[in-house]
Amino acid sequence: MPKVFNTLSNQGQGEKSPEIKGIARRDFLKFCTITAASLGLPLNMGQAIADTITSKKRPPVIWVHFQECTGCTESLLRGTHPTIEHLILDLISLDYSETLMAAAGHQAEAALHKSIKENEGKFILVVEGSIPTKDNGVYCKIGGKTALSILEDIAPKAAAIVAIGSCASWGGLQSSKPNPTGAKGVPEIITDRPVITLPGCPASPYNLLSTVLYYLTLKKLPQLDDKGRPKFAYGTLIHDNCERRPHFDAGRFALKYGDEGHRQGWCLFQLGCKGPETHANCPVQLFGDVGSNAWPVGTGHPCFGCTEKGIGFEKPLHQTVDSVTPPLTYPKVGGTQQGKGMNAGGAAIAGVVAGAALTAGIKVTKALKEEETNS
Ligand code: SF4
Repeated sequence: MPKVFNTLSNQGQGEKSPEIKGIARRDFLKFCTITAASLGLPLNMGQAIADTITSKKRPPVIWVHFQECTGCTESLLRGTHPTIEHLILDLISLDYSETLMAAAGHQAEAALHKSIKENEGKFILVVEGSIPTKDNGVYCKIGGKTALSILEDIAPKAAAIVAIGSCASWGGLQSSKPNPTGAKGVPEIITDRPVITLPGCPASPYNLLSTVLYYLTLKKLPQLDDKGRPKFAYGTLIHDNCERRPHFDAGRFALKYGDEGHRQGWCLFQLGCKGPETHANCPVQLFGDVGSNAWPVGTGHPCFGCTEKGIGFEKPLHQTVDSVTPPLTYPKVGGTQQGKGMNAGGAAIAGVVAGAALTAGIKVTKALKEEETNS
């Protein structure tokens, strides 16, 4: 919820208001209400979420790192005001995290086993990274044990399991062909209980916060889709909330990086944008706190489908995808339709793009094909 956080930080400046976890009280309650709405809960659940955040009871969390780049943790830590990482780290008792804890070696191992023993059946297990399974998992070892054996040992003792990032969700980059280490995601190994997956490369820290808040407030898992992803975060296509969608609908596409269409902020479909096949809330939640375009498409890069197994790290970056949501209008080859701020050259480009899309045999929808036939 960066937009929310931006609002919070702006409104809080210069105001003398009691603070809750570093946030002005009024803004904190507003944040909780908006969080309830984004989770699909009644707005009056905002107070329950506020009570959860301010509760003294902090659920123990064991955060293990396997085969990964630590990008999800980095993403979490790169949050700025009012510091989502503080909200998360204040909310939980992070008993074990190789990246964040001060202890190392035998001390860290001791902390892990102590927490498991004292909190069996109560702790949340967060897994970051894929699990190599080939050759008995020898390609990732921690403290002399394979990631596979560590996961199989800890997972049955957890109250809930969260696989954060695409690697933990299904294998991510490491599982790309030819997948030399037999990398798998948590749900492929832990099959006898639900695993919440939060794919993304990196995963959105806001989705982790929302998931943890949901679980702690309602004492149950949020509604998940068939891939274990919370529906509140992964229930819609990126394409459906994308700010470039009007350009898609009008048939205005960037053809090359840096061309007129790209500079004008037109749709990146022709550059291989996987938004029409990818479910995630990136256009709504954004990443970090660096302005309204803080997500890949917002910065001019096509979505590469990192939240979808079989798309991110599998389909080549520039390969176009099927669109299940056709443009409402589509310019005729030669360009007869002009959008706002679109000059004759731009119209010509749109026409060329339209022609290129059609002649290249890119799969478009039935409606689009009918449009083509009629034109
Ligand atoms: S194809 Fe990509 S850039 Fe174009 S509207 Fe859809 S998500 Fe946005």
